[in-house]
Amino acid sequence: MKDFEYFAPKTIEESLSLLSQYKEEAKIIAGGQSMLVVMRQGLLAPEFVVDIKGITALDYMTYDEKEGLRIGALTTHRTIEKSPIIQKHFRVLGEMERNLATIQTRNWGTIGGNLCHGDPAGDPAPVLIALDAKLKLKSLSGERVIAMEEFSKDMLEVNLEPDEMLIEIQIPAKRPHTGIAHEKLMVMQGDAGIVGAAVSITLKPGDGVCEDARIVLSNAASVPLRVKEAEKSLIGKRINDNLLAETGEVASAEADPPADVHASAEYRREMVKIFVRRAAEKALERAKRI
Ligand SMILES: Cc1cc2nc3c(=O)[nH]c(=O)nc-3n(C[C@H](O)[C@H](O)[C@H](O)COP(=O)(O)OP(=O)(O)OC[C@H]3O[C@@H](n4cnc5c(N)ncnc54)[C@H](O)[C@@H]3O)c2cc1C
Repeated sequence: MKDFEYFAPKTIEESLSLLSQYKEEAKIIAGGQSMLVVMRQGLLAPEFVVDIKGITALDYMTYDEKEGLRIGALTTHRTIEKSPIIQKHFRVLGEMERNLATIQTRNWGTIGGNLCHGDPAGDPAPVLIALDAKLKLKSLSGERVIAMEEFSKDMLEVNLEPDEMLIEIQIPAKRPHTGIAHEKLMVMQGDAGIVGAAVSITLKPGDGVCEDARIVLSNAASVPLRVKEAEKSLIGKRINDNLLAETGEVASAEADPPADVHASAEYRREMVKIFVRRAAEKALERAKRI
């Protein structure tokens, strides 16, 4: 690994000043669970490393019915998994976290680091897109809030300027009559998903017709992929097994999965059909119960 100068700021402002000063030559490190891998592989060789893990002001979770859920960027996966707020209001996030890596990685890796790494195989992004989450980004020149859906640009590339930090993930309060579920194909518990699917289904109260749907895939394109034709195949209809099988087919046709040592593109396409259907079945059951 190439030598670098190391900073450990204790405030957001101090970090932003360093990023503003060193721009492309600096890189943030949070838990280092992804960052150290890419540095050791030589894919990144920053001159300056800004370690933000000690900024306690970015480690929080709050919830209220009006503002929804707010998660500080440095909140660890394990904190989210174990949170009573999550268990009560956003069960799907806890379920997703339980299948993400091992406890060791979840104990140190942060939700912000996972999103900023921009891995299309990552589990949180599809679930957050299904939840219609937004991200608060900050630099010395100001703040902006963007939809999670707009954040990923390409494989390991996100919509973040060199002098910006991710500060907060904002999730609206849950819509009524809405069920959300996440399913991923793992060889072993905690493995990176070969493919994954997050599905949100909102039913019209009373008649069981699908009013809205969001379907988002992981490891099925170079970014977390919202499959809008598959969503349309559900909206305005009463959902049954045949329709869910058709939705899986449509999602699979929209996917553009990679081929690698873990699976061929063809296999992933087949698995998209199954995992979209499974997540949608679960989401539908949950929507009916709320
Ligand atoms: C063994 C192993 C198994 C894993 N399995 C899974 C899995 O099953 N599913 C899954 O989704 N992930 C998995 N991961 C990835 C893991 O979730 C991420 O590595 C971790 O969450 C990254 O968080 P971090 O705090 O360590 O980020 P770091 O590695 O420190 O940073 C990652 C990237 O984000 C940037 N960054 C970090 N925080 C910020 C911020 N606040 N603002 C701007 N940029 C920032 C860094 O500059 C870097 O580019 C696995 C990782 C390991 C090591």
